[in-house]
Amino acid sequence: APLLDGRGLYRFFRVGEDETAALRGVDIRVRRGETVAVIGPSGSGKSTLLACLAGLDEPSGGAVHVGGTRISHRPEAERSRLRARHVGILLQSGTLIRHLSVRDNIRLARAADRHGRHRPVTELLDQVELSHRADALPQELSGGELARAGLAAALANDPDVVLADEPTGELDGDSEQRVLQILRRRANDGRAVLLVTHSSAALSIADRVITLHDGRNVDERD
Ligand code: ADP
Ligand code: ADP
Repeated sequence: APLLDGRGLYRFFRVGEDETAALRGVDIRVRRGETVAVIGPSGSGKSTLLACLAGLDEPSGGAVHVGGTRISHRPEAERSRLRARHVGILLQSGTLIRHLSVRDNIRLARAADRHGRHRPVTELLDQVELSHRADALPQELSGGELARAGLAAALANDPDVVLADEPTGELDGDSEQRVLQILRRRANDGRAVLLVTHSSAALSIADRVITLHDGRNVDERD
């Protein structure tokens, strides 16, 4: 089975008397070893799709499985537990707590999954080349370091799936390459990576690109 499996996904939003369909039947699967990129114009449903796949939002129709377990259509507490176990999330806005050091942010991410496949903090810091910045606060980091610290936190529980929203959006070329290399290696190690991105460098590490338009996938190319 694919590590990430979203089938027939619909998501409706009520706005006053009106209803918007952000997703209208999206199918997306990412297999072990694959990196898949999602592109599409603004408003095409990319953020909504990512939130549904991460178990942060509930699809109105369809189902999401991660690591072979259904994460959709469950109470929030259960989704949150499954998310901590199976999904690493990387957002452009960052997911680090401001008053905690890099090291403590990683510890906190591990604590979210009490019985998880915790990776040692020193190994995580080493993987993202931030061992020398373990005690720094997020606001003391450069853009590239911040992205890598977020990545270390996302990988803390050795998740089956990494979901990333413009993970290299504001990085210079060198920092972008370092982040992309870590993500690509993740997939090569038998995990699944899904990126929402417009960056051509990020698209170049993808095995497949899925294009969303008006809440539907319109094509898929290798
Ligand atoms: P993208 O990430 O591709 O820009 P989004 O997933 O943010 O697209 O939005 C898809 C559509 O759903 C848009 O028309 C947007 O206005 C609508 N939408 C997204 N979130 C909400 C919400 N919470 N309430 C109402 N409409 C929403
Ligand atoms: P990177 O290539 O990872 O983005 P830089 O070359 O930009 O790193 O930064 C090198 C060093 O300078 C880092 O230790 C970083 O903490 C520091 N630094 C860079 N920009 C800032 C900033 N805006 N605020 C604080 N420290 C910064």
